[in-house]
Amino acid sequence: MKAVLFYAPGDIRYEETARPTAGPGEVLVEIKAALTCGTDLKTYRRGHPLLMKKTPALFGHELAGVIAELGPGVERFSVGQRVVAANSAPCGRCFYCRRGHLSMCEEIEFLNGAYAEFIAIPARIVEKNLLPIPEGVSFRQAALTEPLACTVHGIERSNILLGDIVCVIGQGPIGLMLTRLAKLRGARVIAVDLNPFRLEKARRFGADELVDAAIADPVEAVRGLTPGGRGADVAIEAVGLPDTWEQAIAMTRPAGLVNLFGGCKSGTHIQIDTRRIHYDELHIIGVFHHTPRHVRAALSLISSGQIDADGLITHEVGLERLEQALQLVASGDALKVAVIP
Ligand SMILES: [Zn+2]
Ligand SMILES: [Zn+2]
Repeated sequence: MKAVLFYAPGDIRYEETARPTAGPGEVLVEIKAALTCGTDLKTYRRGHPLLMKKTPALFGHELAGVIAELGPGVERFSVGQRVVAANSAPCGRCFYCRRGHLSMCEEIEFLNGAYAEFIAIPARIVEKNLLPIPEGVSFRQAALTEPLACTVHGIERSNILLGDIVCVIGQGPIGLMLTRLAKLRGARVIAVDLNPFRLEKARRFGADELVDAAIADPVEAVRGLTPGGRGADVAIEAVGLPDTWEQAIAMTRPAGLVNLFGGCKSGTHIQIDTRRIHYDELHIIGVFHHTPRHVRAALSLISSGQIDADGLITHEVGLERLEQALQLVASGDALKVAVIP
């Protein structure tokens, strides 16, 4: 089969590689659409110590397709069925899984290799996170399920009440989904970004106020949009930089919630005035990844049209042009690119 393989940072190659087969409990999927993701861009530029242990390696993790082959023992699915797979599944047995904290699973199984013609879905993901695509949902729309599931998780944990003022910093694909979901939760949303194209998108995803961080100081601007300048009820950071983490904290009112959703580079630090946590009773949380329940909720939001998946997919290219697609994402001119094998 054809696939794009990661050799080293900045070195990915479109070439022929062995087509996988479906082992016991596994399902072979013929990929019909994969989506680019910020994580893939990071992998392309810097490599990925966890996912790219051996090279060359397959990568990409947002995918939808058609079942081409069933491994021994698979009964719930059939050849020819349209399906979407999440990129992981928790074990259900470890300390964290038993406490219901599935995103912290110690034995979580990840799946990579969406930039290829075929992919073998591991048994555990078949069992827990492989879903039939509802009628009327296209492959590329369905492929948005995984990143959307992360944002569903993020919004559920953000404790948003009807009428709250929620600020979302960063309006890339993840920020835009957070903006839309916060609207669905009944919030008034302030969207912050530096890029006029993304701010315009934020408006279309339901943002009530736009703050252009290239022109205005986001903390002052957001406070200025709240009664008495007290600050946002909830601030969600979807950039993944220590500076914007500090901004999110600084713009939140006493007893408000700060969701530091964007993952920063390991080893980086932020500074917080201790007063904000004790005397201001600030609630600061981080939210990582998704669980099988969030994956199902995400697909249902796509199929009911509550999330405009196509509005996030700005380009479509053939698999052989993946490198250009990643560069397009890096340039800021694209949100998500659908990659078609
Ligand atoms: Zn992703
Ligand atoms: Zn576990």
